[in-house]
Amino acid sequence: MNLRKKIYLYTTVLFAVLLLIMNITVYAVFSKLIYENEQAAISNEMANMTKIAQKSIGNVPEAELLRAFVPSNGMVRLVQPDKKAVTSTSPDEKALREIPSEYISSELIKTMERDNRFYMFASAPLILPDGEIGSFQLIRSMDSAEKILKTLRFVLGIVTVVAMIPVLISSAILSKFITRPVATMTATMKEIRKSGQFKRLKLEGKSHDELQQMGETFNHMIDLLESNYEKQKLFISNASHELKTPLTVIESYSSLLKRRGLKEPELFNESIEAIHSEALRMKEMTEQLLLLARHDDHWMIDLKMVELKSFLTQVTRTYEDAFNRTVRLDSALSENTFIQTDENKLKQLLFIFLDNARKYSDDVIKVIAGTEKQEVYIRIEDRGMGIPMKDLPRVFDRFYRVDEARNRKTGGSGLGLSLAKEIADALGVEIRLESTEGVGTVAYISIKVT
Ligand code: ADP
Repeated sequence: MNLRKKIYLYTTVLFAVLLLIMNITVYAVFSKLIYENEQAAISNEMANMTKIAQKSIGNVPEAELLRAFVPSNGMVRLVQPDKKAVTSTSPDEKALREIPSEYISSELIKTMERDNRFYMFASAPLILPDGEIGSFQLIRSMDSAEKILKTLRFVLGIVTVVAMIPVLISSAILSKFITRPVATMTATMKEIRKSGQFKRLKLEGKSHDELQQMGETFNHMIDLLESNYEKQKLFISNASHELKTPLTVIESYSSLLKRRGLKEPELFNESIEAIHSEALRMKEMTEQLLLLARHDDHWMIDLKMVELKSFLTQVTRTYEDAFNRTVRLDSALSENTFIQTDENKLKQLLFIFLDNARKYSDDVIKVIAGTEKQEVYIRIEDRGMGIPMKDLPRVFDRFYRVDEARNRKTGGSGLGLSLAKEIADALGVEIRLESTEGVGTVAYISIKVT
């Protein structure tokens, strides 16, 4: 059974059951009241009748006495202990005479059924002239009460049926209203699966109900999936393109070596040099690619308290020694400036900026550190070729390089800054670049002190 039918069925059945329970309760309460009323009436009447009969019995013949008491819709009877009875009935209820006489010595009120009709029966003791106790009985038809109850049953039945009509209509509308967006979403998903294209739901409603929100979330998810898919596609095509160039260089130099390498030592040296540098570039690129890919799983961040001043001294010294470049540290930090961070990842971040400063400038690289409000800042400054204004917003994109020609020389992969961005996000630090073409570049790292 589909959702729509289920909603329809459940709401209809629930309403029908509720209506039935309500109507049955109304009927039960009402019929109880009517019966109690009838009982009270017959009990009163019986008390009055017994009082008068008790005075008159012995003075008036019993048959006449009874005739005076006979109701318009029933029977009176006086039963002696030996069950001998005198009976008087109304003209319509002559058949009641056939009820066998029964001697009841105490007071009693009950209902009885005869030929599918209901009667109220009351009995009270009456002292007979001979001193014995007789049973004075009154039977009255309950036709009028039954008629009222029949009308009530009819009205409640009609009310139930009439009330079910709007229930049926509203549950049909409700089930359609709820299932329509779900059905559209399923249809869109099927279309996506069939066509392999990212499609969105058409959201017409202006309301902000849960169904609208579900549709919006679905569209948002499709947006995300599409942009991730596009990014991956771009990443793969860029990665294969980037790897193709060094592989082509290696392939052409190695075949050159195969053919003429042994005979021409100059060519041999040039080829080995080119193969070596391309291999290094590929190694660097694959390492960075691996790091970027691993981020999708998680950066394993290992937070520790790091004393920043000596950390920076050590990092700049290591860099100077490794690359034989002057890195001047200008720190305004006090000896006890501690930050909570992952030491190795922060070092990696600094190396990326230092590497760029080294690759794209020839002068001294400056590292300036200090505190500002609740933040510690580190600036890596170079006086190199700088980045043109138009390229600045894009340098953090994967594989983006400002100018193929100048990068070919420096051997960049275009992955350094995007890796820096990912590391910064994982560490919760802020990074940005400021640059003027032909003057130099400043990389900023801002770290919140906790
Ligand atoms: P790459 O490995 O090519 O250096 P990056 O992602 O680190 O890749 O940098 C992207 C581009 O931004 C580089 O190709 C370079 O053109 C430019 N760039 C980055 N840092 C500097 C800098 N300090 N000076 C000049 N250009 C820079």
